[in-house]
Amino acid sequence: MDVNIIKKIDPKITNLIEKERKRNEETLNLIASENYPSKAVREALSSIFVVKYSEGRPYKRYYGGTENIDKLETLVEERTRTLFRLNKDWAVNVQPYSGSPANYAVLRGLLRPGDKIMSLALPHGGHLSQGAKVSLSGKDFKVVNYLLNKKGFLEYDAIEELAKKEKPKLIIAGYSAYPRKVNFKRFAQISNKVGAYCMADIAHIAGLIIGGVHPSPFPWVDVVTMTTHKTLRGPRGAIIICKEKLKKKIFSKVFPGIQGGPHNHTICALGVALKEDQSIKFKKYTAQVVKNARALAEALIKYDFNLISGGTDNHLVLIDITNKGVSGKEAQEFLEKAGIIVNKNAIPYDERSPFDPSGIRIGTPALTTRGMKEKEMRKIAFWMNQVISNPKSSLRIEREVKKLCKKFPLP
Ligand SMILES: *Cc1c(COP(=O)(O)O)cnc(C)c1O
Repeated sequence: MDVNIIKKIDPKITNLIEKERKRNEETLNLIASENYPSKAVREALSSIFVVKYSEGRPYKRYYGGTENIDKLETLVEERTRTLFRLNKDWAVNVQPYSGSPANYAVLRGLLRPGDKIMSLALPHGGHLSQGAKVSLSGKDFKVVNYLLNKKGFLEYDAIEELAKKEKPKLIIAGYSAYPRKVNFKRFAQISNKVGAYCMADIAHIAGLIIGGVHPSPFPWVDVVTMTTHKTLRGPRGAIIICKEKLKKKIFSKVFPGIQGGPHNHTICALGVALKEDQSIKFKKYTAQVVKNARALAEALIKYDFNLISGGTDNHLVLIDITNKGVSGKEAQEFLEKAGIIVNKNAIPYDERSPFDPSGIRIGTPALTTRGMKEKEMRKIAFWMNQVISNPKSSLRIEREVKKLCKKFPLP
């Protein structure tokens, strides 16, 4: 599917595509934010919808020729509603190009520059787009960060106290590196008490919520953002769902606020992914993602890896690698030599720099899509321990990794 025609006109890019395919086929992708969309989703990504300009909302466009786009976008919104069981109190927008612009549109829609927001600190598992200094979200707004406790858990009483003291206008719940369940209801209660909007950023866990293995932010919060390419297993993109009464403020910031024409090929592929997400098979997949993460965590603990919060409830594991005598960056590099792809990651209360932090983050969504189960997770933990304890073993293990990968083809 990939390169039949490209091959004839562009050997250089063909070569890169083929190398990237081979890299994915022959390595173990433990990046918690990545996943493999189906062939159907990828086919939809190259559909004729890539051509069309359709600024505006369905049936209210600034362009002609949109009769099919209107039906498409409406269908994708409907599928989102079905999956999250939304009633008419909620409005859906599937146009955001990605998670970060979706978050920015929400912040700029609900708040005025200079207003105060409250979010989890970046090294504790928050996301850049939630008010980090280097992000526009951190320049436009005053930001107060809450922290995890020393054991690595959200501490709701402390969050409530901080909210009462700081009186933010908006509180964000939802993370990039938090291995435990999030109590969105509690966040909404805290927000209500201080008169703040409550925003859930379910970028990582949207698929788990649909599958019923993580509590839903509905109907508790005011607005929900999510990426579509992580556990949702669609194309790169994002969805915003908000209370109907907030829709004017927020959707006008998506377009014309920060975006132009929607990426209609992406919306088309998202529709296909959401159809797949309605199946029993997808529900089973999400349950397996969580089982695999738990198996990986348990095996790593046996090899004396130090897990933040001591384990996981979801699809990811955050490891403080300090006791193994290497940094996060070194661990990432050693593992990559063995074909085990992870990312270095800050840990709560990290004393090292973000470029060479104390931790690594691993996740099971991509390998579970390949069909791997608990047995393979235990094997991977064994290999990780070998590589970290003795980096010289990398090449030998790389051969074993390739053998395992052969048995679990990409979709
Ligand atoms: C991945 C992620 C995002 C942003 O996604 P992009 O599509 O990379 O912009 C936002 N919030 C959280 C919590 C994320 O994990």
